[in-house]
Amino acid sequence: MSSVIRLLPDHVANQIAAGEVVQRPASVVKELLENAVDAGATAIKLVIKDAGKTLIQVIDDGKGMNEIDARMCFERHATSKISIAEDLFQLQTKGFRGEALASIAAIAHVELKSKEHTAELGTQVIIEGSKITSQEIVVAPSGTSFSVKNLFFNIPARRNFLKSDQVELRHVIDEFERVALAHNNIQFTFINNGSEMFNLPASNFRQRIVNVFGGKTNEKLVPVQETTEIVEVHGFVAKPEFAKKSRGEQFFFVNDRFIKSGYLHHAVTAAFEGLLKDGTHPSYFLYLTLPPNSIDINIHPTKTEIKFDDEQALYAILRATIKHSLGQFNVSPVLDFQK
Ligand code: ADP
Ligand code: MG
Repeated sequence: MSSVIRLLPDHVANQIAAGEVVQRPASVVKELLENAVDAGATAIKLVIKDAGKTLIQVIDDGKGMNEIDARMCFERHATSKISIAEDLFQLQTKGFRGEALASIAAIAHVELKSKEHTAELGTQVIIEGSKITSQEIVVAPSGTSFSVKNLFFNIPARRNFLKSDQVELRHVIDEFERVALAHNNIQFTFINNGSEMFNLPASNFRQRIVNVFGGKTNEKLVPVQETTEIVEVHGFVAKPEFAKKSRGEQFFFVNDRFIKSGYLHHAVTAAFEGLLKDGTHPSYFLYLTLPPNSIDINIHPTKTEIKFDDEQALYAILRATIKHSLGQFNVSPVLDFQK
């Protein structure tokens, strides 16, 4: 009797995982930006061409990688961020699954240059379709640069499925804004087809929001602040008169990670009850800090959904806090730049 089950070769497994992690250029942007944040960068530069279809490059001044790690980082389940199962309940980093780079390298041409701060020289690794084609010692600045070219070169169906440059660029900008808003203390630049789209100096929360969305945003923002046993909430909601027909400027960050939650969105909308014109949606930028062991981030590869231990309490706290802030906004000054 011959058996029929076999283990898939790594490059096939990587390509399958890539289907989940990398949907479009914006997914690569998210993973590379988050890796740069996790590397402790103080400045991060994003460069794209043709909405990321031909080039996505992220350059950081973070801790860099040595020669061995510069190869290892492309292995599946290779991560420096967790080592034991318990670590999953104490996550302090954006990454932990160790699959982003393996996935990206399976479906694109990737060039990595990296140098640790204490090292004299850096390493360059070129990997295409999961195969390392060259590794050399090179002169490089401290930190790391990943260039991802020809995304989906070996999956024509995926490549053809990509939307127009305009649509893909919108997705890239969304991911960029989410990371930039979550990390106001890091300087971000974004170069699109050779021209600068964003240049965001390190700053406080309010100034970062204003730098991303434009000067007029400042007068719209009402500060929100509350500390309870289960959550610390801070951030801003826009005054009701600035609510928009389109949904858009609505951001929840949980422990510095952008997340989507229809349930919490409802809590915010409920706080605006009676204040909004029909069919308009409030804008908000809300930063929630919870004990890492009270949330589960590991429910989807892209980590934009989260499970909370006590979602109902969170709902009640958010709603009450925002209601309170809105009630106060016309009596207390809101143009305080130091908030
Ligand atoms: P994860 O982020 O889940 O650990 P990745 O595949 O994204 O998985 O990255 C694998 C590893 O490569 C990381 O754990 C980290 O050690 C290293 N790495 C990736 N990007 C960078 C970077 N910009 N600077 C330094 N190290 C990096
Ligand atoms: Mg990662």
